[in-house]
Amino acid sequence: MPPPQAVPKISELDLAGSNPGYFDRFGPALWPQCERVDVHISIDPSIDSSLRASARSLAVNTILELNKLTGLTLVVRSGATEQDEEFFNPGAEPDVPGIRELDVFWYNTASDAPSEQFGIADAWHSGPDALEQSTSDGSVNVTSKDAPTQQASLLRSRIHLSIEILRRLPDAKITEPSQAMAVLHELAHIVGIGHSTARDSFMYPRFNDQTRLTTPDRAALALAGSRPC
Ligand SMILES: [Zn+2]
Repeated sequence: MPPPQAVPKISELDLAGSNPGYFDRFGPALWPQCERVDVHISIDPSIDSSLRASARSLAVNTILELNKLTGLTLVVRSGATEQDEEFFNPGAEPDVPGIRELDVFWYNTASDAPSEQFGIADAWHSGPDALEQSTSDGSVNVTSKDAPTQQASLLRSRIHLSIEILRRLPDAKITEPSQAMAVLHELAHIVGIGHSTARDSFMYPRFNDQTRLTTPDRAALALAGSRPC
């Protein structure tokens, strides 16, 4: 008997307004809520030291906001303070992140870089098929697994953030177009949330004067943290 046809499924995240980054017939790929995610922050050494301190704080504070909005537990393990500053070589290809890890890279970019290049998010998760798929600001990578009957789980993640976020966006609340919202947009990708078609959503591909954290956005973030172990 041929295998049953995969039925297109409306995922929970669709109902909340955003498309999931990846989903199959068992639902979207999410992090299991009981497992901690270790975060490592590193910085391009060519960035001015005063901006490096602001970049570290912005990443740490936005990760705490993400934890509140999702119920997930991301714990910054390295690179959070000046004493513990970590650098990376921007000319080298970064290693694939470890299991249950988020690697955050702050990189120096030209001051005329287009704003859609302020951040890139890459996620790796389990799934029935191996796949590497580019998205407008990152990629979704599925590594095949033995039991294609289970829900896909996120396994590894990475975000690249441009220092232009600090230079060109206001230092305002996370609920309006701001430095924190730009970082939260990339963090939302690595917890499984894709872009929204709603123009006022912070997950719309571009910020505009209507952009905010909408009620459906908050629901999508809460759903992203709702996967039982
Ligand atoms: Zn995006």
